[in-house]
Amino acid sequence: MSGIRSTGFLHLGNYFGAIRNYVRMQTEFNCFFMVADLHALTTHPDTKELKESVQRVLAENIACGLDPEKAALYCQSHVPETAELYLLLNMLAYKGELEKTVTFKEKARQHPDNVNAGLLTYPVLQAADIALHRADLVPVGKDQEQHLEMARNFVNRFNHRYGDVFPEPHAFNFGDELIKVPSLDGGGKMSKSQNQYATIYLSDEDELIRKKIKKAKTDIAPEKPNSPKPESIQNLFLLMKLVSEEDTIQKFEDDFNHLTIRYGDLKNQLAEDIIRFVSPIRERAKEIFNDKEYLKKVMTSGAARARESAQSTLKLVKSAMGMDYF
Ligand code: AMP
Repeated sequence: MSGIRSTGFLHLGNYFGAIRNYVRMQTEFNCFFMVADLHALTTHPDTKELKESVQRVLAENIACGLDPEKAALYCQSHVPETAELYLLLNMLAYKGELEKTVTFKEKARQHPDNVNAGLLTYPVLQAADIALHRADLVPVGKDQEQHLEMARNFVNRFNHRYGDVFPEPHAFNFGDELIKVPSLDGGGKMSKSQNQYATIYLSDEDELIRKKIKKAKTDIAPEKPNSPKPESIQNLFLLMKLVSEEDTIQKFEDDFNHLTIRYGDLKNQLAEDIIRFVSPIRERAKEIFNDKEYLKKVMTSGAARARESAQSTLKLVKSAMGMDYF
């Protein structure tokens, strides 16, 4: 089980941190993936663009290879059982631990005039999304590690107090380390709503990708053979590892170690390899986004599958809590 907020255009971080694993998982596991529109409201109270954003996130996920016939693909607010489980789990979440969450502190700093209760309890809603399907594997990027730990705490508290209902959820990346796709400005990560020029979106046109990569932060060239790479250069190599061929990466590694590297060449190659990766997804996403009937069908059938699973979990929850009154 996993989700992506409808707060903007999807980017390489979303793809390599999350969606790539959704696509790999969908054939092996019983999967639920959703567009987290309720989570989006914690930081984006203006709903003018919400509908488009939900449709775009769906279209982009499908364009990346997610198959709504295989995985249940739905919109969070179409499954009201989410809100019910969220309410129940809120009784097991403590103000102190919520206030200490890194993302809460970060977002409270970014939006000082909108530090709402939904933002504080964001990890509880996320735990509810996961627990709703009694999911144990959660494909997410590295930035979600702390939230996953909190989800484990909440469900363990539930199990301890009321009886074993939920498996422990764990972040999942096919045995590999969780990924953080860095932004192009030398610090932080690619993100939907910040650093727009330092983030490569799956909807970016070819020329824009070239421009962004050209502007990416670099450092002075190495002065001694086999020097450690400065962070901004490490980031470019990290991106290359995601989109380029093995021998291309090796060539630039050798150039770096033998002091013959030209960062301009590295960037040109990286830009072209990103374009090769992004452009078919971008074109496919446009087609899917324009097919509103198809999107409606996906959302309707995804919600039906998700609600069936959610209702059976809530039955177990109510019975464990002694809330099955008749
Ligand atoms: P969000 O865009 O915050 O709703 O995140 C949706 C999914 O994408 C989550 O699983 C995140 O961990 C993942 N994600 C977002 N940004 C990055 C990034 N820069 N690197 C790796 N994963 C990311």
